[in-house]
Amino acid sequence: MSKVVNSAEYLLNQLGELSYHLSNVPHRDRSYFEKPLQIINNTLGFHIGVLYKITNVIEQDLILEVMTVCNPDHIRPDLLEGTKLCLNIEHPPLEFTNEVLAFKNRNVSAINIPGWGCDMVGSIYLPENLGYGYLLAGDFFGDESDIKEHEVRMCEIMCNMLSAVLMKTQFEALASYDSLTGLMNSRAIREELEKSVQRQMRKGHTSGAVVLADIDFFKKINDEYGHIQGDSVLQEVGALFNAAIRKHLDVAGRYGGEEFLLIYEDTEINQVLAIVERLRLTIAGHRFAKIGPTGHALEDEWLQVTLSFGVARLNQHPLKNGKAILSLADAALYQSKAAGRNRITLSEHDITE
Ligand code: GH3
Ligand code: MG
Ligand code: MG
Repeated sequence: MSKVVNSAEYLLNQLGELSYHLSNVPHRDRSYFEKPLQIINNTLGFHIGVLYKITNVIEQDLILEVMTVCNPDHIRPDLLEGTKLCLNIEHPPLEFTNEVLAFKNRNVSAINIPGWGCDMVGSIYLPENLGYGYLLAGDFFGDESDIKEHEVRMCEIMCNMLSAVLMKTQFEALASYDSLTGLMNSRAIREELEKSVQRQMRKGHTSGAVVLADIDFFKKINDEYGHIQGDSVLQEVGALFNAAIRKHLDVAGRYGGEEFLLIYEDTEINQVLAIVERLRLTIAGHRFAKIGPTGHALEDEWLQVTLSFGVARLNQHPLKNGKAILSLADAALYQSKAAGRNRITLSEHDITE
């Protein structure tokens, strides 16, 4: 099959249609991308339109999830929907050269490697707290795989349009949430902590506590099974935390890489300790999905993961700010680690008071 030859006027019409589509599309991830993928496939004449979500960037690894493949019948078994890929940014596999270059340069990469990988990849850039962004790829099968300048420009314009629209409409909603775990992000949970401390002080309540939790030996999980496995564990821990909090009462957030923060207002310390103990046991007994070499969960294998916890009460006179209370929780967490992990420690400050 040879490529479709399109007039400039036709392509401009397509871009006009895309612009109209983007300003009217309901706010759901996937619906933003239908039209651009259609243009890649029908107008530019690539056989496969692929959409990757950039799910994480850790050290030298770029982690992608294949979200949509327009023509799955074609022979790219490495591009099945739902597959996760871990690409080394400095030394990417040959067939993912364009993906990595598009990500690095935040622009279209269209290096033609005959018989290998997608022929053209554009980057839909979003800042880290909005989840890094997406990659949009076209893959042409057959001899005639040279990319035309207008195809590159068209892809670039589509990606820029998508970046602008996604940033504008999703900023509000996503700015407070961590895209990997679905919990509040670090900035939001710190703000929440300050508010909680001030509220508790104002009310003169002595109840309420903050809990800092850290995954045990997480580096080992990354080192042994790779960053995709590490991310999958983080996602599951996020889901377990979400299920454990009482809606509209408690809040949970991702404080840092593999550290989490829980805030319990107006709750007696013994009750907090009981809730956290239940959570600790739930996590220690949970079967975490083991990710196989294709990026999918294996059926009969799983991993065991534990967390260590440090607890400090919210209203600790004379400490009147979140940072100071966090440092107490952090010291208690450190004690849990030193005492053998998979345990809960209440801040010494609480005990001796
Ligand atoms: P400890 O029990 O003492 O807490 O040991 P640890 O290995 O869990 O702690 P350490 O601080 O040595 O390692 C934390 C690791 O978490 C290192 C870092 O690369 C990894 N990490 C941080 N953020 C992410 C992420 O978003 N995804 C993945 N896969 N790994 C992450
Ligand atoms: Mg840590
Ligand atoms: Mg850890």
